[in-house]
Amino acid sequence: MKEVSVKKKQKLYEGKAKIVYETDKEDLLIQEFKDDATAFDGAKKGKIKSKGVVNNQISSFLFNYLDSYHVPTHFVSTRSDNSMVIRKLEMIPVEVVMRNIATGSLVKRYGVEEGKELEQPVLEYYLKDDEKHDPMVNEHHVVSFGHATQDELKQIERFAYKINAVLKAFFFRRDLKLVDFKLEFGRNKNGKIVLGDEISPDTCRFWDAQTDEKLDKDRFRQDLGKIEEAYQEVRNRVFKEA
Ligand code: ADP
Ligand code: UDP
Repeated sequence: MKEVSVKKKQKLYEGKAKIVYETDKEDLLIQEFKDDATAFDGAKKGKIKSKGVVNNQISSFLFNYLDSYHVPTHFVSTRSDNSMVIRKLEMIPVEVVMRNIATGSLVKRYGVEEGKELEQPVLEYYLKDDEKHDPMVNEHHVVSFGHATQDELKQIERFAYKINAVLKAFFFRRDLKLVDFKLEFGRNKNGKIVLGDEISPDTCRFWDAQTDEKLDKDRFRQDLGKIEEAYQEVRNRVFKEA
């Protein structure tokens, strides 16, 4: 992996799970992962020990892996235990959710049986707006509101399905079911669609393939205990040769 050395400048944005800093290079940012955990649009708050380090490791690995499958990502290099250098994107304020197995809001909203393997993956869009509780929208809303063009959404959809296929197989070989996950995309300086943000147990649901034990942020959301252990377990499986 190529090393890129940048100097940390002022904070650009502090979110719930990460801090983004400008650097001495116009096009590059530093993304720092925090141990802070939130759920229910920030209503529930806590800390998960070593989460920042583990999520940085998992995200770095997976971005690199996706790059090797020709999915463009913002990842440039790992910078420290809990930070990475990323390419600055103009973020599209839409959360792209892909689902393989029914759980969470899919069960609540539509009454699909918990744990049902879906006939085909489902893609959903949500506006990134905590105050409005991330309302679900369709592609017409996204285009009409001016967040992305039809062509950009086509590209996002192609990438989302490809990422799902690549990651589902990757985790299957590591005895984990990739139940569902959330992606964020943005535009690079050439206007091309690039995958941003993170891919980690904060943003994906992972169930053990044998036992269906939850190994992700649902342990925090639902007070299931052994939260740190679950994040470490996912990290260990990601780095396992398979
Ligand atoms: P939230 O805003 O959901 O609380 P985080 O704590 O994860 O989010 O903060 C990270 C922020 O950085 C998010 O708003 C995310 O959209 C943004 N971001 C992620 N990748 C990039 C990038 N490559 N360029 C600019 N902003 C980014
Ligand atoms: N997700 C996320 N951030 C959000 C909302 C969802 O990372 O703001 C992820 C979540 O971790 C899960 C998937 O998207 O992997 C689908 O979440 P769902 O809509 O079922 O969320 P719930 O309503 O159950 O929190």
